[in-house]
Amino acid sequence: MEVVILLGGPGSGKGTTAERVRGRLGYIHISTGDMLREAVRNGSDVGLKADLYMKRGELVPDDIMIEIVVERMRRGNKDSKYLLDGFPRTSEQATLLEKSLADEKGEISQVLFLDAPSELLMKRLTGRRICRECGINYHVETMRPKKEGVCDACGGELYQRPDDHESTIKNRLDVYGRQTESLISRYKKKGMLKRIDSSVAVDNIVNVVVDILEG
Ligand code: AMP
Repeated sequence: MEVVILLGGPGSGKGTTAERVRGRLGYIHISTGDMLREAVRNGSDVGLKADLYMKRGELVPDDIMIEIVVERMRRGNKDSKYLLDGFPRTSEQATLLEKSLADEKGEISQVLFLDAPSELLMKRLTGRRICRECGINYHVETMRPKKEGVCDACGGELYQRPDDHESTIKNRLDVYGRQTESLISRYKKKGMLKRIDSSVAVDNIVNVVVDILEG
């Protein structure tokens, strides 16, 4: 079992990059944000709990997160390769991930840090619109659909994530600085971190990531 961790603030391009890289290189994309949003939509116990935190831009407690990620990874086999997008987000999550991988004889092969200044993250998030049907991301200025509010690919309705409103984004960026940024030095110390400039267009980020993962 091989795990690639994508680190970076909200809006740094982790989800879009993972989606594009996944099919090309045979990785399974695990987005904890997407898993939680699905749980909220389904009204499951996890969803009901998670919703309270997500609305405020706070992190969902570690015990819930570890459980859903480990459960998801157990569905794979020893040859599965995972791209983790949005997990780990705290030191506790990182420690438990490492422990669980040791038990399964898996390893973290790469930690890729998608780095972009916070003003740019803010701009990307406030302008982000997502297709309700197929999940493709657009941006009101930089990646506009041909017809406003409608997905080019499938005709689905575009919407704004409730936590992509300015006040919640400020908190998410703050939470990232307080709880997640320390993971950068954790993996740097272990000699595992590769920094990638993610202030560039997504195609360029994808190319760099593919080059690294293809070795
Ligand atoms: P994302 O889609 O990655 O921006 O995540 C959206 C929200 O889901 C975050 O603001 C958190 O509330 C929650 N979330 C996602 N991943 C995690 C995680 N690893 N730990 C705690 N909360 C998370």
